[in-house]
Amino acid sequence: ERQRRIRNFSIVAHIDHGKSTLADRILELTDTVSKREMQDQLLDSMDLERERGITIKLNAVELHYHADDGETYIFHLIDTPGHVDFSYEVSRSLAACEGAVLVVDAAQGVEAQTLANVYLAIDDDLEIVPVINKIDLPSAQPEVVRQQIEDVIGIDASGAVLASAKQGIGIKEILEKIVHQVPAPTGDLTAPLKALIFDSIYDDYRGVVLSIRVVDGTVKPGDRIKLMNGQTEYEVTEVGVNSPKPLKRDLLMAGDVGYLTASIKDIQDTRVGDTVTLAANPADKALVGYRVMNPMVYSGLYPTDNAKYNDLREALEKLKLNDAALEFEPETSQALGFGFRCGFLGLLHMDVVQERLEREFNMDLITTAPTVTYDVELTDGKHIKVSNPSELPESSQIKQINEPFVKATIMVPNDYVGAVMELCQRKRGQFVTMNYLDDYRVDVIYQMPLAEIIFDFFDRLKSSTRGYASLDYEVSGQQPSDLVKIDILLNTKKIDALSFITHRQTAQQRGREITNKLKKIIPRQNFEIPIQAAIGAKIIARTNIKAYRKDVTSRIHTGDPDRRAKLLEKQKRGKKRMKSVGNVVVPQEAFMAILKTD
Ligand code: GDP
Ligand code: MG
Repeated sequence: ERQRRIRNFSIVAHIDHGKSTLADRILELTDTVSKREMQDQLLDSMDLERERGITIKLNAVELHYHADDGETYIFHLIDTPGHVDFSYEVSRSLAACEGAVLVVDAAQGVEAQTLANVYLAIDDDLEIVPVINKIDLPSAQPEVVRQQIEDVIGIDASGAVLASAKQGIGIKEILEKIVHQVPAPTGDLTAPLKALIFDSIYDDYRGVVLSIRVVDGTVKPGDRIKLMNGQTEYEVTEVGVNSPKPLKRDLLMAGDVGYLTASIKDIQDTRVGDTVTLAANPADKALVGYRVMNPMVYSGLYPTDNAKYNDLREALEKLKLNDAALEFEPETSQALGFGFRCGFLGLLHMDVVQERLEREFNMDLITTAPTVTYDVELTDGKHIKVSNPSELPESSQIKQINEPFVKATIMVPNDYVGAVMELCQRKRGQFVTMNYLDDYRVDVIYQMPLAEIIFDFFDRLKSSTRGYASLDYEVSGQQPSDLVKIDILLNTKKIDALSFITHRQTAQQRGREITNKLKKIIPRQNFEIPIQAAIGAKIIARTNIKAYRKDVTSRIHTGDPDRRAKLLEKQKRGKKRMKSVGNVVVPQEAFMAILKTD
């Protein structure tokens, strides 16, 4: 009876099309939060999400909607991220739903991530409720976009709701559509418990908090549960829902989305995608879990203070619980000491992990430039994986280096096709095909080295199309390439953490760009510092950082004590993110210098 009134749904969209704003309006309209408590983008609870205006972690809330038919429905709204790096999180939230609200910007139309996300939902057999948002904009073209949704996505958009999340137009209509179009869950209340873990966080007081979707059966405090893949058992201490604050419940039953705690202290034991069942009366089969995502880019993370190595490990373990796609293993660098080689889904993911480590765990970190994983065939026929450039063997031992390629789909208005193709060509792309989506939009498809995509591609794509292009990519295999490793020497000492792999044709130019950039970044010291770039023993570029003449501290001699204190504080903060490498002080920026060139 309760299940009949439950609706579990997600909101999917391209980034910036208005998911979080719509979620806010829905929370308001259902009185889930009072006006006083309402802050913009309430679901984006991480500070980082608020600041960047993007949704990183999925979040589930329960709300109550008094529908026009006189009934009160229980909605579970699961927010999803829009960025390509986080499609893993999207597929997790979708697995806990029966429906998805598809938000499309009335001015921008269907974009690459609209497609990627809506296809994930269609693959999961979810009911799609299309919404055309931002109809308040002068540039809105709702009827064009309606047609586009039908032509490009291939779903019926005749009933699409015209909405403005910002101005609160169409929100009630969306809620009614959810009631009537999204099917109620159909779990078996009397069957053995089966619940999907779709997220987990670590709480210092309660231990591990699992977010679950109950598929069959019921679960309550005192029950002895078993995690089916891990084969570990616990006693449930609390169940509840987020509304959006945690609210204890006596029981969670089939169809519910909520949380569960069981004094789980060992982080390793819980895996997102695992199934929770009862120890005494277990389900016979676990639910289908999630596809394991493989990291696409790797970088080294080092504490600026070597004594913090164990703190960093603990922080990474806790973060991994909340971010299953994160991978890490210990590594050592001659230049940076003890740290971890971490694997990420993409650059934004890497950025987010790094910032979360700094904010939530108070770590000061040096991060090395991201790199892809190369498959290296040695002269003796063996293959090795290299995700740390400094570990690439001598060129005499290498028969061939294969690098990961992606199939990149770039959606762009007609006028910019030329600019996009030129950029792709320059980034060693191989043209595949071009599809006209409608009269003014084209899908341009290229095979591209993943390494070129992470190196400055997205920014350039945006700037050469005035922000109109959108990008989606998926791994398509390995291809042999003529690659070389460039080493950087400071004061004639090779700095392993600055080595990188690049295409032979661009090696000379990259070597020159980077030595020049490092010259600007590394502060002058009281002796001259030569900077060299080398392939093997051959120097391909060099420059010098001149010794300084004056006492640098005189630079902060300023009359105003306030200003002086501020400057000193700034200097102190700046210093933290530096590392002495031999006798040269190298700031964090230097390790990222190879990522962007001016
Ligand atoms: P998300 O990335 O899909 O979560 O998008 P957000 O909800 O963060 O919205 C992105 C931007 O679009 C924000 O600046 C919003 O204020 C704005 N926005 C969202 N909905 C509307 C709308 O209906 N009309 C207008 N004009 N702006 C909107
Ligand atoms: Mg958002």
